[in-house]
Amino acid sequence: MKPEKLKSKYIGCMLGAAIGDALGKQNEGQTREDILKRGYVRDYGKAQAGCPGEKLRASQYTDDTEQMLVLAQSLIRCEGFNGLDFATAIAKWGEDAMSDPARKSLVGPSSSKAIARLNAGISWKESGSDIPSCGSAMRAAPIGLFYDDLLEVEENAALSSIPTHRSNAARAGAVAVAVGVRCATNGMGCSDLVKETIARASKYDMELGRRIGLSCRLRTEEPGKAFARLGTSYLVYETVSSAFYCFLRHFESPENAVIEAVNAGGDTDSIACITGTLSGALHGIRCFPEKWIQGLENKENIEELAYMIFKT
Ligand SMILES: [Mg+2]
Repeated sequence: MKPEKLKSKYIGCMLGAAIGDALGKQNEGQTREDILKRGYVRDYGKAQAGCPGEKLRASQYTDDTEQMLVLAQSLIRCEGFNGLDFATAIAKWGEDAMSDPARKSLVGPSSSKAIARLNAGISWKESGSDIPSCGSAMRAAPIGLFYDDLLEVEENAALSSIPTHRSNAARAGAVAVAVGVRCATNGMGCSDLVKETIARASKYDMELGRRIGLSCRLRTEEPGKAFARLGTSYLVYETVSSAFYCFLRHFESPENAVIEAVNAGGDTDSIACITGTLSGALHGIRCFPEKWIQGLENKENIEELAYMIFKT
């Protein structure tokens, strides 16, 4: 692969996460029925009143991207995954976010409990919550960019979950996203990518692997039916499988994949963040509409971090 194409995939992966997150926050926590009544969201805007991100600006992303950037910075700083460094950084990030009136409601219950435990001096190996939510899956993409070898991707993604989410399902979710990103970056075809992701995620949690398999089989079904089967809540089984459904249904159209995810209902910012990261890793940054790229807040810093990982 030419270096320019590969660089575009690294940037596409990280900006894709932020774009999906910023678009998806508008519908976070809304039912699909309510979203359909208002019409599909296709561009940046303020979140609905009552959404966790209601105080954010239109082009601002949420905690999903913020945590992904903390992980990317730690990987660069330590030249690889370092549990203590990452846990220290995530604890500091959490303290800042929870003291900011505009961002405090973004931090989910698993992360906030784990952050409090880390800040109380509990080891990062013991601090994680047992709730199988998607908080470690939604931030895992940089692990898939940093490591080339799939076993290293898998093992470091599983480790990166532990400071906040130590359940097998949550670890499997982080593995699925990071392995999916590496396979997409390598330009793997749809069925090989799915097989590899299922095989590696299933080592940690068989049920998550089964659900990704279901999302693949459902990709020819209408979204309403698929989301009802897969679920769209904050639980890792639901967010990760619904994101894989959007990515696989629109394998050749990242724009449509992200729009599908943004309007899925439920945990739309995380579903769209994961969909955007997989689609961007497969197709590169130019696959997204220019208005989404140019309109995104903090675009230059995210691009710079992706470039730094690309260079290492
Ligand atoms: Mg969020």
